[in-house]
Amino acid sequence: MNCQVCGGLMQAKFTDIPFKLDQHNIRIIKDLPVQECGQCGETLIEDHVMEEIEPLLGKEKHLSELEVMRYAA
Ligand SMILES: [Zn+2]
Repeated sequence: MNCQVCGGLMQAKFTDIPFKLDQHNIRIIKDLPVQECGQCGETLIEDHVMEEIEPLLGKEKHLSELEVMRYAA
């Protein structure tokens, strides 16, 4: 897979990614598998991973404004 920004080679890695749900709610998902460009640092979340974390982001709106979650494959 190549970077959509610079065409560099994307490499699989695990990292912590913050998702801003709305103005006040942020979820940080830890150990998320992403593709990262070795050249420009652009990160890409693959569709199947996005589908898996969507339920995590959507539920539990009663939680605090900043919530840290762990991605479990
Ligand atoms: Zn790049």
